[in-house]
Amino acid sequence: MKTLTVKTSLREEFIDITDEVENVVKNSGVKNGICYLYVPHTTAGITINEGADISVKKDIITALKKIAPYGAEYLHMEGNADSHIKTTLVGSSVSVFIEEEKLILGQWQSIFFCEFDGPRARKIYLKIIKEEA
Ligand code: ZN
Repeated sequence: MKTLTVKTSLREEFIDITDEVENVVKNSGVKNGICYLYVPHTTAGITINEGADISVKKDIITALKKIAPYGAEYLHMEGNADSHIKTTLVGSSVSVFIEEEKLILGQWQSIFFCEFDGPRARKIYLKIIKEEA
């Protein structure tokens, strides 16, 4: 297993980690297989969506803020219940196929680390499984 680290700079932001993951895949020597990515945090997650137009990630964050507004009435005493809810909505893991040493993503897709309670230093666990011949 590999660990990628991300330093976030805002309370809520999506960080495109596609190139970083692509590099790990290339250096792994695995030609065909699957890449699992897992975020071990309760207030940060991971998702795949459009990376071509950066407005899309901003619109997603805006929509999540409407669903789980910061400072609304929650039971969780830590003050970041909205961050936990947003994390559950985007999820904690994604998996991407690897073919010929490349991640198989759609033309407009990117992999985003999703911060919901930053800024912080964060981790992403990554495991590459080789396809049996
Ligand atoms: Zn909390």
